[in-house]
Amino acid sequence: MLTLLERIAFVLLVLVTLGWAGYNFWLIARAIRRGHGEFPWREYLKTWQARIRAQIVQVGLNYPVFQNRPRVGLLHFMVFAGFSFYFLVNVVDFVEGYFGFTTLHQGGVFALFNLAADLLSIGVLVGMSALLVRRFIVKDKAFNIRENVLLDPRVRAGAIRRDSLIVGLFILIHVGSRWLGSAFRLGQTGQPDWSAPGANVVAMAFANLPEPVLTLGAHVTWWTAIGLIFLFFPYFVLSKHIHIFFAPLNWLVFRERKLEVTEPAKQNGKEGVGAQTLQELSWHSILDSYACIMCNRCQDICPAYAAGTALSPSALEINKRYWLNENLRAFSGGAASPSLLDFAITKEAVWACTTCGACVEVCPVGNAPMVDIIEIRRALINEADTLDANLQKALENLGKQGNSFGQSARNRVKWTQGLNFKIQDARKEEVEHLWFVGDYAAYDPRGQALTRQVAQVFQDAGLDFGTLYEAEWNTGNDARRAGEEGLFEQLAEHNIAALDKAKFRSGIITTDPHTMNALRFEYAKLGKQYTVTHYTQVLMQLIAQQKIAFKRKLNYRVTYHDPCYLGRYNQVTQQPRQLLQALGVELIEMPRHGMTSFCCGAGGGQIWKGGAVPGERPSEQRIREALSVLSSSNGNGNSPASPLLFVVACPKDVAMYSDAVKTSGNDGKIVVKDIIELVAEALQEPILVTPDKTPLTQADADARAREAELA
Ligand code: SF4
Ligand code: SF4
Repeated sequence: MLTLLERIAFVLLVLVTLGWAGYNFWLIARAIRRGHGEFPWREYLKTWQARIRAQIVQVGLNYPVFQNRPRVGLLHFMVFAGFSFYFLVNVVDFVEGYFGFTTLHQGGVFALFNLAADLLSIGVLVGMSALLVRRFIVKDKAFNIRENVLLDPRVRAGAIRRDSLIVGLFILIHVGSRWLGSAFRLGQTGQPDWSAPGANVVAMAFANLPEPVLTLGAHVTWWTAIGLIFLFFPYFVLSKHIHIFFAPLNWLVFRERKLEVTEPAKQNGKEGVGAQTLQELSWHSILDSYACIMCNRCQDICPAYAAGTALSPSALEINKRYWLNENLRAFSGGAASPSLLDFAITKEAVWACTTCGACVEVCPVGNAPMVDIIEIRRALINEADTLDANLQKALENLGKQGNSFGQSARNRVKWTQGLNFKIQDARKEEVEHLWFVGDYAAYDPRGQALTRQVAQVFQDAGLDFGTLYEAEWNTGNDARRAGEEGLFEQLAEHNIAALDKAKFRSGIITTDPHTMNALRFEYAKLGKQYTVTHYTQVLMQLIAQQKIAFKRKLNYRVTYHDPCYLGRYNQVTQQPRQLLQALGVELIEMPRHGMTSFCCGAGGGQIWKGGAVPGERPSEQRIREALSVLSSSNGNGNSPASPLLFVVACPKDVAMYSDAVKTSGNDGKIVVKDIIELVAEALQEPILVTPDKTPLTQADADARAREAELA
């Protein structure tokens, strides 16, 4: 039990430090409220189940922390679990210290409490020590941020390392003291208590210490355990470890669709001007910087960072946070921040983002750095900032011709030439399905051949479909992500009017995942709800209805690339794989697949920009990744003559990866194929060449022909 003097000192300490920390908390809350947008309480209440689930899965089980760094995730979980339980431990210790009550030797629920506290303390000490070793001795490269990225000078000088050291030592001293304190108290009683086995072992070592030493030990460790919390509190509020509070809050108020581009805010009466300054970002974006744990997971997975550009999504969050900490009182009191381009991110970095959404998907605290980048792009476009010439041209083409290729609307149906049937015109005759073809599938010469194959397969399967012909325009998905909100609206209005006039009974089919995303989610914000399916989903439905029956089993070793806008944005990851399975190919997954797929580098307007990047292009890195898994796999005994295939399901990917195979010097080693090419091949009659009329695959037939040629 504490002495009277100690109790008075403790009360004073609590009043001073809680007052100080509370003031800083209040400033942070005001700073967050300076961001635009309201708290949509009603929406939160409507989706309370999802929010509770997020608290259990994302926060309670630390699921996203485990996801892509499982070992670090386990160490973090040990610290998290112990620390969470320590909320109760600290209350009990306070009561014990103040009122002389003890949980030792009590049995029952107290024995369980002591056991949990003892074991979880050991977990925290082991976990925290290992995390410190990782940062300070192993010096994991994941903590580095490249020199060409704009980073707060204090962070460059080691501020995050210092912060981590202070907090790490606090945790070790706090938990270690509490654990040692139990041992001193057990020593004082002179009786073993196996409900706290760890502390009990240490207490045995204290057996011969005189009583005054044990009493002093118990008092000192109480202060270094409980008193230290309050001493640390004002620092903690401004440290990166405030995420303990803001990360759960971030998951509580998460946006229903995490990858959604936010609706542009009205500022000074102007619509859609984006964000030049911190206060022009949403309150969500400011909250993000306080939730950030500065783990660099988003940077690890960012294709723009991997390509050597100046973009690091983690640096963006870190810079926002350090600026806020430095200017907290002024900013929360209403002072304006300077331009985000002065302290948070460079213009080069802003234009390097592919809007792949990987940073949003991977973030363990639910941050969305990509959304900030799009807001800044909006502001740059609004200010008529000088754009990359190719991007500028593509945006102009979209505005004038409704397609990024700058071709006439009539050419949109050129791809139909060569088909032996007429595509129905949904503007004139009613069809079951409306096929929204998309720019790349319609205009790109490589895409056109594939689009014809899709049409042929649909036709042969008896699918009743038609298109909008030249009334179809680009959906504006990528124009919006390039920051061109006005252009997006113009394109969307045109398409919605065309779709309103078209006659189709069921939903929309598309070959293009970017198109799918805009029609499915972004037009919904404009009041139009469409059911949109990707052609791989349609093909699977046709197989299930037995309208498609493959005649050949394909003997290829393949890997499949999930397009960002199909997998991450639209959660279509299973159907393409089921299709590959039905085709009989041997699918070997790349390490980054499904929701953690690595972007080809085309999205968000990047495909229009062209130009060089400082390092290896994301698409070239992806081809290397594919070759490495395809060639290192033992496979299932496929013919060695089978080409290795890189299978895609997006017309832009066909263009991106066909180029990447050439530019990375891998011509002949791997072939890029759209999934429809495999479907078309498997639908052909088998080639019967053997005397016993055994059907051969095209690949086997090709291999035999090559062998015969060599012989
Ligand atoms: S959206 Fe993709 S490219 Fe953009 S910052 Fe996030 S991970 Fe990087
Ligand atoms: S934004 Fe998320 S993933 Fe990126 S550093 Fe912060 S916490 Fe980690």
